[in-house]
Amino acid sequence: MHRCGVDPGAIDAVFLTHFHGDHTLGLPPFVLYRVFVDQRPLTLVGPEGIEERMEALFEVSWGPDWKLVMRPRFNVTYQTAQPAGSAAGYMYQSIKLDHGTSGSNGYRIKIDGRIIAYSGDTEPTSPLDELVDGADIAIVEATGPGDVFSHMSWEAASELRQRHPKTRFLFNHLYAGTVDGAVTDLQVVEV
Ligand SMILES: [Zn+2]
Ligand SMILES: [Zn+2]
Repeated sequence: MHRCGVDPGAIDAVFLTHFHGDHTLGLPPFVLYRVFVDQRPLTLVGPEGIEERMEALFEVSWGPDWKLVMRPRFNVTYQTAQPAGSAAGYMYQSIKLDHGTSGSNGYRIKIDGRIIAYSGDTEPTSPLDELVDGADIAIVEATGPGDVFSHMSWEAASELRQRHPKTRFLFNHLYAGTVDGAVTDLQVVEV
């Protein structure tokens, strides 16, 4: 985060789409920072069970030290995502997307009068169109070419972009090896 010019202490809300490891296991180092370096309030928004799942992850990460030493210093509020709500002063909507057995929460977050849509993981089904419809920016997964089980292919991503020409799309969640250099830090790949 520091390398990208982002202050990890200034983040006041994190929206979790679902609990798969590739979307949650980056949290412990960030939480470590918020426990020992910067204790400003933090809201974690996510699907039903967010508190239990996150607390379990942090206990796995630090064992008994989590509850004894770290949890009392962690200035967190857990919030189960609602169809429409607000977190840390940001208005949001959440839309259930098709992904795996438990689905993924897509979010539309209003920031400075603009709508940012974020998908996490999803198949290219109608709730995804609902999520990005009219958004200024859409950050959406595009996993790889061809058959990408439970995710969106580059072909479907391209069609999605064509159906929503006024929205600026940023595609992420590329599988390593799908294109040479595609997962080099911060490299932008046109699809
Ligand atoms: Zn997933
Ligand atoms: Zn994923």
